[in-house]
Amino acid sequence: MRILAIFAHPDDESYGPGGTLAKYAREGHEVFLLTFTRGEAGTLGICKNMAPDEKARMRRQELLCAARVLGIRDVQVLTYPDGQLNTISYAEGESVVMKEIDRVRPDTVITFHDRGISGHPDHVVVARWCRNAVRQRDADIRLFYFGLSPQQASRIPNRQLFPIPPSDITHAISVKEYLPFKIKAIHCHQSQLELWQMLQSVEGGYVHNAEVEYFMQVWPPPAYGAVAVDLQE
Ligand SMILES: [Zn+2]
Repeated sequence: MRILAIFAHPDDESYGPGGTLAKYAREGHEVFLLTFTRGEAGTLGICKNMAPDEKARMRRQELLCAARVLGIRDVQVLTYPDGQLNTISYAEGESVVMKEIDRVRPDTVITFHDRGISGHPDHVVVARWCRNAVRQRDADIRLFYFGLSPQQASRIPNRQLFPIPPSDITHAISVKEYLPFKIKAIHCHQSQLELWQMLQSVEGGYVHNAEVEYFMQVWPPPAYGAVAVDLQE
């Protein structure tokens, strides 16, 4: 596969489908990453006391570190405004995705579920841009939304999360073996470790809750049947 992962923020790739990206990269597939912002609006941990420029520089470096750990071969970090992607027109957002598709020529695109996981408006618009761009390109590209299963979301305390409705889950990828890479990539994002600390209180433990990563095939529209265990199915 030639996988293009597209996200709003540095750290989405690691806290999100980091296990799946690491798995396929290590199995010899090519993995590319496009991140729309440098995360300069972050308010977690040490970000509280940093100027936006300083944060942007730091978070870009953190992203490059995580990409190396996950085995991503090429990272594009754009400078769209963190927290304000919903001020960008659909036409512009979609055209950025289409240009990256034309450059990378992926057969598989991965982004967050269109409910945004945490409901972050940046995640929501990136999902829509990806869906519209992939449909318009229609060049044998499969688009997957990554999300939590309802059970995973229910084990994470004190956060309002928007899981994939169970009937929409088309793929469940076992990533237990690759969690060390995912956890190492998460730790590249030093400025975001408050999130990691929060995940330590997950019922049953982080690892238990992260062993399977869930996806919904968006394009082409899937023939619903048994949940597949490999994105290539
Ligand atoms: Zn994010």
